Amino acid sequence: MSSTPTLAYIGLGSNLSEPLAQVQAAIHEITNITQINVMRVSSLYLSKPMGPQDQGDYINAVLALETSLSAIKLLDALQAIENEAGRVRKENRWGARVLDLDILLFGAEIINNPRLTIPHYGIKEREFVLTPLAEIAPNLILPGGESVKVLSQDIANNAMVKLS
Ligand code: ATP
Ligand code: MG
Ligand code: MG
Repeated sequence: MSSTPTLAYIGLGSNLSEPLAQVQAAIHEITNITQINVMRVSSLYLSKPMGPQDQGDYINAVLALETSLSAIKLLDALQAIENEAGRVRKENRWGARVLDLDILLFGAEIINNPRLTIPHYGIKEREFVLTPLAEIAPNLILPGGESVKVLSQDIANNAMVKLS
């Protein structure tokens, strides 16, 4: 069986248990999945936490991949990697986490079901998503018609630092 692979974008984040190593390990784990080809990986960025401020800074990145998996199977695979990294889901939203892997875009698909909202609802408001996304896909247009490059130029600066 063969089908045209889907180009998807994944946002990665961590602020616990050596965040930089967590994000690098997650990139490695994603690369190891048979049905996934990682196409591009952004620089790593150091960003301030969103929401509760009593937590450490984050390491963030975005990667582009091609996959024959469905969106929900891709979510299953990413959540398995989060769980292996020791992610514990807590009540408090946007609290510290060892690893967060969000599907930002999945081809041109628009998905709204209890497990998946795609495009990810935070893309347009999050510097730590838009800046790395624009780095690897400056010509990308969101399903709503917005240019990622323009959005990233307009996003409020929140002291994010690009690591080499
Ligand atoms: P935020 O969604 O604001 O970035 P978060 O990433 O911390 O917050 P999680 O605890 O990682 O939220 O995920 C909560 C639920 O969000 C997951 O169980 C998953 O089913 C759902 N979800 C909905 N849309 C997506 C998506 N595009 N990518 C990943 N998870 C999603
Ligand atoms: Mg998230
Ligand atoms: Mg998440």
